[in-house]
Formats: sequence, C-alpha cells, structure tokens
Amino acid sequence: MNINRSKELYREAEDHIVGGVNSPSRAYKGVGGGTPIFMDKAEGAYFFDVDGNKYIDYLAAYGPIITGHAHPHIAEAISKAAYNGVLYGTPTKLENKFAKMIKEAIPSIEKVRFVNSGTEAVMTTIRVARAYTNRTKIIKFAGCYHGHSDLVLVAAGSGPATLGTPDSAGIPTSIAQEVITVPFNDIATYKDALEKYGDDIAGVLVEPIVGNFGIVEPKPGFLQEVNDLAHEAGALVIYDEVITAFRFHYGSAQDIVGVEPDMTAMGKIIGGGLPIGAYGGRVDIMEQIAPLGPAYQAGTMAGNPASISAGIACLEVLQQEGVYEKMDQLGAMLEEGILHHAETYKLPVKINRLKGALTVYFTDVEVENYDQAEATDGEMFAKFFHLMLKEGINLAPSKFEAWFLTTEHTEADIKETLRAVESSFKALAS
Ligand code: PLP
Repeated sequence: MNINRSKELYREAEDHIVGGVNSPSRAYKGVGGGTPIFMDKAEGAYFFDVDGNKYIDYLAAYGPIITGHAHPHIAEAISKAAYNGVLYGTPTKLENKFAKMIKEAIPSIEKVRFVNSGTEAVMTTIRVARAYTNRTKIIKFAGCYHGHSDLVLVAAGSGPATLGTPDSAGIPTSIAQEVITVPFNDIATYKDALEKYGDDIAGVLVEPIVGNFGIVEPKPGFLQEVNDLAHEAGALVIYDEVITAFRFHYGSAQDIVGVEPDMTAMGKIIGGGLPIGAYGGRVDIMEQIAPLGPAYQAGTMAGNPASISAGIACLEVLQQEGVYEKMDQLGAMLEEGILHHAETYKLPVKINRLKGALTVYFTDVEVENYDQAEATDGEMFAKFFHLMLKEGINLAPSKFEAWFLTTEHTEADIKETLRAVESSFKALAS
C-alpha cells in the first residue's frame, strides 16, 4: 500500500501543528507510532485517503458517526443550516425541538442544556453537583475517560480508594486531591471510599457501560448499589453517556442497566458529527444553573443551529425501523468470525461486545475492569492494528477503544473485514 502523500503531509503537519495532530491519539502513539493516514473523503462506511486507498472504517470518529460518513439526511440538514446562518447568539426553535427529542428518549432528563463537547458537558455536571450539594469531592472509576478538564484527568492512586494524582502536567495536585478513583465493578472498594470520604462527596461519575477501556458492562447490581450508596451518602450520581447515548438503541445506557442517574452528560452521536455536548437531569438540580441558579455555564457556540440541525437529523435516521438490529447482527457476525479465526491461529483473543460496538483484546482473561484491560497484550494489538490498516481496515489506534458499526456497514464489509482479520492473525501467529 502506497502512503507517500500521507507521509509528506504528516511531515508538513509536524512543522505547523503540535505533534502533527489536533488530538493526541491520532498520532498512533498507542500503537507504537507510524504515519497517521491522512483521509481525503469519507462516505458511508468508507474512507478514501490522500494516496487513493480505500478503507472500511470502524473508528467512526471515536463514536459520533453512527449513521456512516456523509449521510445524505444529515448533509442536507447541515447544508440548510449553513444557508440559514450557522450562529445567531439568540435562542432558536431548533433547540426546543432537539431538547424535546432528547427528553423523550431519556426520561431521567427533565431539563437539558446544550454545550459544545463531551468534555464541557461532564465538566459542568460536576460543577452543578458541587453547587447542589455544597461539597467538593467526586468519585470516578479507574480507566473511565471523561474528557480533558482538570478534575477528571486523574489516574487511580497507587492503592485502591486513594486520592488521585494528576494524569497530566498542568493540573495542580490540590485539584487531583478532590478526586477519588476506584475500580469499576468493585463495590467493596467503592463502599470503602464512601465510608472514608462520604460527607465530602458531591458526585459519583461513571460511564454506565464503559467505552474507554473497551466495551465493559457493569456486573449485575453494581450500578444499583453505586446509586443507592451514593444517595445514602448525600451525593449525586452522574452518568457519562458521551459514548453510550443512542449507541445501543434509541435511548441511553441507563435503560439497558435499569438505573436512573441524577444527571447525564452526552456528546458524540447527538451532534451527528458536528461539535456538541449536552447535559441534563432532575429539574431541581438543573435549576442550579444560570440564569436560574448560582452555577455559571455559558457558551458562544452552545446550541448553534448547525450542530443542532445535524443532531436532529442524526436522531431521525436512528428512529428508523431496524437500524440498531442491523448493527447488532453485523456486530455478532464480526465477533463470531474474529473468534473463529483466533481459534484457528491459536491466538489469545477475548471480545467484549454490546450490539454494534465491540472491543478485541489480546488476552486469555475476561476484561471487567481497567487493570485487566491494561494487562492485555498491547504489542500484539499494535501489530494487528498496522496489519489491518495495510489490508484496508481502519480501526481505532488503541487497544482500549471500541470498533463501532454504523448503519451503513454491510454484510459484504464484514466479510471483507474478516478476510483481513484472517490474514492479519496468520501473520501474527507465524
Ligand atoms: N466522556 C466520554 C465517555 C468520552 O468517551 C469522551 C471522549 O472520548 C468524553 C467524555 C469527552 O468528549 P469530547 O471529546 O467531545 O470532549
């Protein structure tokens, strides 16, 4: 495969853009480096790069592109918005329509606010929880990513239920000390954390179905206990559904796990590919926010007509009959095929899949928490990633990410992908 033009463009990018990329994982550091492929055009399930190569895409831009690239219904909506003016700085009726759609799909959301990214959405839920409870600390779960705001960019401490240490330079230790990180799916450690710090906890932040150390579902009863114990301690529960909202069905992960949080943060899919975030929840909590309450949050671009139009159009596509069933079927076909080839070539592979999202781990151990995901074979994943890319399959460049099916993938795409998997596994096994 010739990627000469990508190589040239990457060299040029490195001269002008920090690290040559505008988001670090795009630089392939998670898969041992290499030249990031510069894409030129995307349509449906496919990418076309600057050297004329075609790829089947499972990155889906890290999740938002659930209806495939350049979906005509969304493209039309964006185009119409462009000609009507993309930014007003005034309210629009589009925002009312979209707010109603979100509320109908996610009943725990009584009031909503639109922002510009998942990071902003989560960051603000924490501020609101702090304002509501008059407390400062939060509990989060190891390996769950909640955007790059100071408070959530905190790794697990050396032992369980310890105060956090910053995960990035530039975050004061004093801020990290406001965060307690505990392992996902481990109720005992969570209980310990609440016993120790309970009176200071404003909120418990969790991805109800994890997407950031692969797709990991909660153990039965885990999230109910998380809720009950948080509420007993006087803390709010915040679900980060930036990946999961509208991912598995027309609604949220809270329907699937059967537990309602106090607040929910969203992003990705609800923008139809344009920048968006949203958060919502119980009305008495949401009314803490300006202009009604003392917690301030604002945004020049918030609720802009382009993103809202794309979001409405995306949800309209997802309302169509059978779209989620199809992604589930293709996901199952992919899972079965990959496991079959892994057995043939005697490779240690485990797959966590929910509907049209799956993670392929190189390991013998079931992955239920971050430590187990971390212990999977990253070198083998890196080799697999590059082999697949050469075969024309674009995966996320990290062993911790999911493969995302879209409404546009076909059985033929899955067969072609499985052919590439077989060839890559054969190379890995030799
Ligand atoms: N929360 C979760 C669960 C995410 O996966 C992400 C991004 O990947 C974010 C929050 C941050 O969203 P954004 O990148 O839109 O700021």
